[in-house]
Amino acid sequence: MSKNNNGNNNVISLNATCLAEACKKKPQVAGFCEEHFTWFKEGLVTKEGIKPIDFDKKFVSFMKRKKTAA
Ligand SMILES: [Zn+2]
Repeated sequence: MSKNNNGNNNVISLNATCLAEACKKKPQVAGFCEEHFTWFKEGLVTKEGIKPIDFDKKFVSFMKRKKTAA
């Protein structure tokens, strides 16, 4: 096993679209579009673009916070 140790071997390759499922937007940050990068920061989606098991719960509280912030 020789793994490249002096750097992240798993750098995001040239994705044509946002990593989030079913999103067709162009990636802006870390492989996500702006909206889904926000999701990522909120824990609504993993860095692989997968939703967590408790997505629904998190999404609801995210939307609530969004509303109150407006
Ligand atoms: Zn997206």
